[in-house]
This record gives sequence, C-alpha cells and structure tokens, in this order.
Amino acid sequence: MPAKWWLVALSLVALALWAGSERRVLLMVYFEWQSDGTPPPLKAAPDEGAQSSWFDDYFTVELLAPGIYAIGEPRYHQENYNYLVTGTERAVLFDAGPGVRDIKPVIDSLTRLPVTFIPSHFHYDHIGADLAFERIAVVNLPYLRERAPDNHLTLTSREHLGGAEGFAAPTWHVSEWLDVGAAIDLGGRSLEVLYTPGHTDDSISLWDAENAVLLSGDYLYPGYLYGFLPNSSMGDYLLSAERLLTLLPQNVAIYGAHRLKPPGAPRLSRDDVQALGDGLLGMRDGSIEGQGGYPQTFLLNQRLQMLAEPRWLQDWEPSTLETQLLGSLEPRG
Ligand SMILES: [Zn+2]
Repeated sequence: MPAKWWLVALSLVALALWAGSERRVLLMVYFEWQSDGTPPPLKAAPDEGAQSSWFDDYFTVELLAPGIYAIGEPRYHQENYNYLVTGTERAVLFDAGPGVRDIKPVIDSLTRLPVTFIPSHFHYDHIGADLAFERIAVVNLPYLRERAPDNHLTLTSREHLGGAEGFAAPTWHVSEWLDVGAAIDLGGRSLEVLYTPGHTDDSISLWDAENAVLLSGDYLYPGYLYGFLPNSSMGDYLLSAERLLTLLPQNVAIYGAHRLKPPGAPRLSRDDVQALGDGLLGMRDGSIEGQGGYPQTFLLNQRLQMLAEPRWLQDWEPSTLETQLLGSLEPRG
C-alpha cells in the first residue's frame, strides 16, 4: 500500500478512536444540532389537585413539611421541581429551574429570609439561566475549586448542556463552598450535603435528617434517569445508591427534580432507592437487559427507568474523585 493510503488508514483509525472516546459528547452535539435552539412550547396547565396551588400561570407551590416548599414548573417540558427550605435565620433554594420564568417572585412570596441558591448539579434546567442570585453555594470539589481561584466559576458546556434550548453556560460568583458531609445551619434546621454522583460528577443531595426528607436532584426522581451523559458514571451511580441505603431510614420522603406525571411534587421512598441499587447491580451483571439502541432503557421498577449505554460500553469503576472523597464500600451481591 502506498504511503499516502497508510496515512489515510491511520487517520481513520485515529478518528474512530477519538469518536469512540468522545461518543457521549458527540451525542450532545447531535441533540443540539437536531434542536431549534429554544425551549419547546409550554404544555397546557395540568390539574394539580388540592395539595398544590398555582402561583401564576406557570409556577405551582406545595408545602411538603413545615418550612419545606416544592416549587413546580409543570408546564415546562421536563416538569422541573425546585425546593425552598427555610429555617429561622436563612433559607436555601435547591435548584432554580431552567429560567424560562424568573423564580424569584415565588421565593419572595414565601420567605423574607436571606436565600442562598444551591444547584443540585450544573445542568441548564436547574440553574435558572441568567438569574443573578446574591448568594450561590456550590459543592466544594477539588477540580471546581481549582477552576475558581477568585470564586468566579464558569461552567463548561459539557457540565451545562444548555445549547439545545439556547441557554449559555454562566459564570457565577460563588459565595460559599459546601464541603461534602457538611451541615448547613438554617437556624432550627440543619441540612447535610450528600455527594451523590452518578447522573453527573457534580451532583449533590440535601438531607434533612430530623424531618426525614431527602432532596435528590437529578440523581433520583420518578421516570427516566439519565446515566449516559458526558459526566455520568454508572460506577458512581451504584456507589451513591449503596451509601444512601446505609443512611436513609424506612420513613424517608425523597423529592426529586423532575416528575413523570401530575399531580404534585415527585415523591419516592426508600424502596425506590433499593430498586435503584438492585437494578444497577442487575444491569452490571446482565440480568436486567436494556431495550433500544443508544442510549438503552433499563427497567428498574414501575416508577424508575435508567437510560444508559449498552452493557458492553458501561463502566462500573467508581470515579477516582468519588473514591477519594468518600472511600470505597465493599461491593454488594
Ligand atoms: Zn441533570
């Protein structure tokens, strides 16, 4: 074979290897290319029952427990839920939706306390687009801290993924870094910061032990869970489930960041965490088979499905960061 054909062949092999290693990012590029760059039209307002009330024609408010409010966006196509948790001194807003509408008037109607915005993770549909929050608290992960020596953190496009709906990745001025395992004291109420990677490597959950309420972000909600994104990890997903199972009591109420159908906030139980953990083990050992092409759908229970890569592409090794931060557990099963 002439030298130039060797060069072409080698280039093609290199291209194929690169595309293979960057396949999840390329999938995001494809989704963006397929979209028209704006959020889909709002859905018709569903019947939200008696527990929730409409704040306006877009947001709903539901009191879940004393001082814990779900702020729903049932007309946005992903049906996001954000959570306001109040103490006697301060309040926390856990997620702010996609920013299709400004969530601040809803917050102002519920509390006069100083409010700190805490993103469950950095995807565009949780961070309120370009809303300017006075106080933003972000999980203190070494690689994030390194990127923000002056506390200005610019999200990367693979962390943010907002291109398909026309949202640009923001730069935040971080006012507080939340250590994994730290307690956030709101005055008369304490929230523990749990590191729950899997959906993304920047995912946290907030744990109110006294009221047995877990706010789980996109790590866990009823419906299709996303485990195939650029910074998703199946190994981390499993380890996070194992850790939650050792922590959570039987009576825990788990509220996620999206729901499958109306009415009201998306609520799950400890049994669903068990189904997630068992289901991930079943995916790993091949006893639960995926349906479809790429990503595949794996049925975990009647409320939960995992979207993940086909089994031969799945990586079950927990990430180094996960292991460094929290140590490893003895593998189960
Ligand atoms: Zn997400």
